[in-house]
Amino acid sequence: MTSISPEVVRQVVEKVVRQVAASQSSVGSIVAPGDGIFPDMDSAITAADAAWRAYLDCSMKDRARFVKAIRDVALVPENLQYMACAAVEETGMGNVPDKVAKNRFAAELTPGTEDLITEAWSGDEGLTTIEISPFGVIGAITPTTNPTETVINNAIGMLAAGNAVVFSPHPRAKNLTHWLIRKLNAALAEAGAPPNLIVTVAEPSIENTNAMMEHKLVRLLVATGGPAIVKAVLSSGKKAIGAGAGNPPAVVDASANIEKAAKDIVDGASFDNNLPCTAEKEVIAVECIADLLKFEMLKHGAYELRDPAQIAKLEALVVNGRHPVTDWVGKDASAILKAIGVEPPAGVRLIIAEVPFEHPFVRVELMMPVLPIVRAKTLDEAMDLAVIAEHGNRHTAIMHSCDVNALTKLARRIQTTIFVKNGPSYAGIGIGGEGYCTFTIAGPTGEGLTSARSFARRRRCVLVGGLNVR
Ligand code: NAD
Repeated sequence: MTSISPEVVRQVVEKVVRQVAASQSSVGSIVAPGDGIFPDMDSAITAADAAWRAYLDCSMKDRARFVKAIRDVALVPENLQYMACAAVEETGMGNVPDKVAKNRFAAELTPGTEDLITEAWSGDEGLTTIEISPFGVIGAITPTTNPTETVINNAIGMLAAGNAVVFSPHPRAKNLTHWLIRKLNAALAEAGAPPNLIVTVAEPSIENTNAMMEHKLVRLLVATGGPAIVKAVLSSGKKAIGAGAGNPPAVVDASANIEKAAKDIVDGASFDNNLPCTAEKEVIAVECIADLLKFEMLKHGAYELRDPAQIAKLEALVVNGRHPVTDWVGKDASAILKAIGVEPPAGVRLIIAEVPFEHPFVRVELMMPVLPIVRAKTLDEAMDLAVIAEHGNRHTAIMHSCDVNALTKLARRIQTTIFVKNGPSYAGIGIGGEGYCTFTIAGPTGEGLTSARSFARRRRCVLVGGLNVR
């Protein structure tokens, strides 16, 4: 009889366990110890608090290694593909290639520990530093529109700043978020991190989110979502970062390179089927170039609805009062066209329709590849309308113009957190534009494009009478 060495037995057992875990993780929410998924909020938060206390003893090099482990596991090609496919399947929104790109940018371009910069005063009295320290356990609420992107982005920033995090995902992204949290925890364990730095609950719900917001061990709340959740965290009595809704206007001025503006707008507005809060949601074009702009947009995958009856049919399909119809959020342009009885042309990415400014397509944050176009008589009128359409969200605006004064004027007037000039909207989150990437853009509370330092407390450390070597 052939004898099998203990090492071979160990390897076989490990392989089988890995295969079983992998098969479980793809079917949904099976609660297993050590994977960061807990039956209730209290046990999740208590475990995260213990993890954070252990994390305090880790070095900055350790933190950097853990952040790298998160990036590396997210960037495994099969994992990127899985996250994109599973998000489209589970949430029913978006498209696979753009979700692959979004997850990749979140993993590659979210700042890590290098984002924590110490300020110092050195003088006759000694040396004082401002240390960028963790809050402890952060409660992070994530949206359906960027489910895994936000978890990757928040996890990197929050752990880089020395925190533990409890995620409260949207119930419609539960299985996928569980899958990712399991993967992140396995990668962190392999990198030697304390267990439970990233946790969640088996059944995400509004009740569980409320329990998280009220829990005494949660020191900071970060809400990425619509107005209701931002209001909820800001009413919680805790320190909160609110990353809320947008309705970004794209203003096109006569001085713009119209051909490029048209392509940029179609690229930005069709990206992940218009799900990003930063994506162009309405175009306001000065009259003299509006026809040319539409003509150029048609060359890049836009389809124009001209028949008022079809526009009305589309409105009845996708707008419900002041909200979009959830079933149509993030759907493909071709599926939307088919639903109103229009045979979609090959390669269609975006539906455009010229409408009056008061139309619901302009006012409602549709989050689908339906882009209204409004004509303005003058550039000043275009700017006025853009400010109104943005609803004071202070989120994102885009302008295509070669007139520096006009760009400056709208940027001053609209006061958005992101102002993209002469590019697609996604340039504003570091995709084809300079600067880092984030999926939590805190307009309402003013942190702006969040990164590790947004999730940190500032503490003054004072050494009296020493270390001044000037
Ligand atoms: P949503 O507001 O429906 O849900 C976001 C999260 O909040 C989910 O986890 C949901 O379960 C939770 N939630 C919502 N209302 C709640 C309540 N009353 N109590 C407790 N929990 C609640 O948003 P969504 O449809 O998933 O995402 C789209 C919205 O998010 C859009 O308005 C978009 O602009 C915004 N968004 C903003 C940013 C940003 O960085 N500013 C990023 C992504 C999405």
